[in-house]
Parts: sequence; structure tokens; C-alpha cells
Amino acid sequence: MTFDMDAFSFSTKTTRIRHERWIKKLKGKKPGPTVVFFGAVHGNEPAGVLALQEVLDGLLQKEVDLNGDVFGIVGNLPALKIGERFLEEDLNRLWTIPRIEQIKQKPNLSVEEKELLELLNILEKIIKEAEGPLYFIDLHTTSSATYPFITINDALINRKFAIKYPVPMVLGIEEHLTGPMLSYLNEVGYVSIGFEAGQHSDPKSIACAIAFIQLTLIFSGILEITYESEYMKAYQFLKQKAGSMHKVFEIAHLHKIGKENQFKMMAGFISFQSIKKGELLAVQNGTQITAPFSGRIFMPLYQQKGNDGFFIIYSIPTWILGLSALLRNWKVDQLLTFLPGVSWEDKAKLVMRVDLRTARFLAKPFFHLLGYRVRVKEGGYLRVSNRERASKDNLYRKTNWW
Ligand SMILES: [Zn+2]
Repeated sequence: MTFDMDAFSFSTKTTRIRHERWIKKLKGKKPGPTVVFFGAVHGNEPAGVLALQEVLDGLLQKEVDLNGDVFGIVGNLPALKIGERFLEEDLNRLWTIPRIEQIKQKPNLSVEEKELLELLNILEKIIKEAEGPLYFIDLHTTSSATYPFITINDALINRKFAIKYPVPMVLGIEEHLTGPMLSYLNEVGYVSIGFEAGQHSDPKSIACAIAFIQLTLIFSGILEITYESEYMKAYQFLKQKAGSMHKVFEIAHLHKIGKENQFKMMAGFISFQSIKKGELLAVQNGTQITAPFSGRIFMPLYQQKGNDGFFIIYSIPTWILGLSALLRNWKVDQLLTFLPGVSWEDKAKLVMRVDLRTARFLAKPFFHLLGYRVRVKEGGYLRVSNRERASKDNLYRKTNWW
């Protein structure tokens, strides 16, 4: 397996993008985990597809022995063909159970609804046939300049696996976005990691995605440790790209753009850049949008399509992460309903209702600590639901990263 640090040389010389659903299906001779990579769930983000072609084609050519199976899949194929984020609607916002059920019944489907059904069929088959632990990896790029980073739903199985990579990790995106594919797969119980490799047009994004794919093959146990030197190269490459941002962050704020709004981000922001409260960030319908508090700006939107203007994140100290893992393992949340204003809405599903007066004292980060996602305010209540419940821990217990 070769790893070319100079992304330019391979992206222009050897690799042309193939417009096919399957980038590769590699079946190992030995049983083991199943790793499923996605590229171009957004059609204007070809870097992941190119990186997958490069790595998976290489594994096949060199007849590398694999423990388990590796699949490379294109997400939004019609959108990739024309280089747009999507044609009718964002494929990465459709994956909620009610929406999927509705799509299954619908006679006339949008382009992206058809894509969802096709992917769902593929996924169900892969999950059914898998013999070991499953890993789902979704490769993206962003419209702004950025360090490479990981996004995950904040479940311990994701954290434990994702912490192995030397790049920033951003927790809690699922609280702000409805229907990303990875949230769906995580809610079914599997390790699901999103990787943003860099800016759409930057050739280095392909190199970062290649390094990430290689590390994933090693961390999951698909590749033997005999690939140590390649692994170290990929590790050092990403570590150097992430620099001082190799920390864990949580999302504190999202500026949503409504359908009819004219939104323009001020020029020059890059993801993870520090911002001060009151700083001018964007203009929407002629009104200035300033930072509601200090923190770091994250994924500022510099393209036409998309409803998420920018996020604000802050870093979480390591001791908080340790404490939160401990509290979740001890299931301290079971004691919460002894507090005034906190009651079970559905104990079997670990969903609680929190009186808003109580919620003022028990802030959001407190529920995050215990593994709860704080989602909607309904009437006088905050509805919080546990993110750990569905995790198929038993599937991963015997892995070397557990
Ligand atoms: Zn994307």
C-alpha cells in the first residue's frame, strides 16, 4: 500500500472519478469486522470518493490480505455526476425513522428519496451479512477552510473509537441537525464516524481522506499491524495537519438559515478560529449577525446550498470526558427522576421530561454529561433522550480499542 503525501501528483495524474454506486467491494479471506465507507453523500464533495478509489483500488491490486470486509459506496450519485450538493433536497437530512417510513410508502419519489432507498437496501444487506463489528465512516469536505476533523453523535462507542485519530473531534452535531445518515446508523447501534477532510477544492483534502481511510483500516483490525510504517506515515500526516486543534469540542450554537433568507457569511473565517462575543459574523436580509457569545466558529457556510450558517463550539476538558464516561457507565441518569421537575416520559426508551424551571438549574451540559441529547422544548418541558441506549456494546467489547 503506498501513500503519496503530495495529493496533487495522484489526483491529476492517476485518479479520475468513477460515477458508480460501488467504489469497491473487498471481501477478506479471514472473517473480521465490516467497514463501510461513504463518499459524496454531498455531490459537490468528491474528495472522499477519490481517496476511496485510491486506497481500495490499491488494496485490490496488491492483493492485500484483509481480516473482514471493506465497502466503498457513493452516497448521492446523481448529485456527484453534476457536482452539486444535491438536486432536490439534502440527502444527509432525510434519515429519520418517520421520514424513512414515509418514503417507503410514497409513490413518487424525489431524486434524493430514491437515493436513500437504494442506500438503505445496500445497508440492510451489509448489516445482515456482517459477521463481526460494523463501522460506518462518512467522508465529507467543507465550504470553508478548516483543519481536518471528526464529527460524531456523542455516544461512548463513537467516542472510544474516534479518540484514536489525531484530529479534533466535535461532539453533539445530532442535537442540531435532523436526519444525517450517520445519526440514523448510530441510533441503530453502530460505530458511526463522520470525517471532514478539508475544503472542497483543496487537493490536500484528498490526502487527508486517504490517511483517515488507512488509519480506519488499521484501527478496525481490517489490516494487520505489518503495515506499521504506512500507518505511522498516515498518523503523522493527520497529526501535523490538525496541529494544536487536536482536542474534543462540543457544539454550543447553530445559526440556522430559513428557506427565504439571504445569508452571507463575512469573508475569511476558517473553522476552529476563535471569535469574540459581539463580533460581526454574517449578514442576513440586510441585518448584521453577531456572535451571541465567545468561542470558536465552526463550519461557516461559504456556498449557495445549505441551511446551516455557522456553528459555535468550545473545547471540553479531558477530565469532563472521563467523568462523563464514568457517570454513563454507572447509569447515574437513573437517579435523575428523584429530582423535582424531572420525570420519565418513556422509561424503557430512556426519555425524560424536564420542567423548564428545573432546566434552568440543570443546564444542557449536565444532560450531555450523562449521555442525554437535549432536543425540543414542548409546552413547558424540555425533552431529553439517552444516546447510549441503542449502542450495540457487545459487538465491540472484544475489539482492541474497547
Ligand atoms: Zn458534506
